Amino acid sequence: MVQFQCTLCGECCKWYWIPLTHLDTLRLKIYGNHDLNRILDLKEAKEDDEFTVEVEEGGYRLALARIEDLCVFLNDGKCMVHSYKPLACRFYPFMYSVGYDGRIIVEVNSEAVGKCPGLKIDSKIIPRDLRESLRKLAKVRILEKQLWKNTIKAWNEDCGRRGSLKELIRFIINRAEIDMKDLVKMGVWIK
Ligand code: SF4
Ligand code: SF4
Repeated sequence: MVQFQCTLCGECCKWYWIPLTHLDTLRLKIYGNHDLNRILDLKEAKEDDEFTVEVEEGGYRLALARIEDLCVFLNDGKCMVHSYKPLACRFYPFMYSVGYDGRIIVEVNSEAVGKCPGLKIDSKIIPRDLRESLRKLAKVRILEKQLWKNTIKAWNEDCGRRGSLKELIRFIINRAEIDMKDLVKMGVWIK
């Protein structure tokens, strides 16, 4: 059985950059009142990246800023935004994929084995409760990523290359507020 209890050691927050959606950004704004100009970053996007946001002549992924190669929210080894952190952070040390039949498959992230101190494994079986809660989260994540794609498309078509980061932030927060209302109505808004 796979056992997991996060020790809040903060190690995984040193290894990865965190991609954001407009809805992750809105959570950081409304639940933490963070200065988005300080905590957001633009990471150069790969050529065929479907989440490429065009800002002032460049193509980028929206991400959490890093300071000295650590997540901007890592403080003394702890996450300062744990209760409303980006959805991408909430899966580790697990990962999900979508099977050919549309079913969501949850597995241990092989990169976490031997690195995440909260993970204990003596077989591949993930306890049912944990598996189901990650599946539920994955469904919302997939939906939020689709809404983010729509937002990026609208931005790139309307403002793209001419817009600054400040304008992008205004644009995505407006879109996120609208999308959030729909997600609340559907009962799938995640704090
Ligand atoms: S490495 Fe594992 S135990 Fe440490 S913060 Fe990340 S998920 Fe939690
Ligand atoms: S937001 Fe929190 S959990 Fe995510 S990388 Fe930053 S410190 Fe870690």
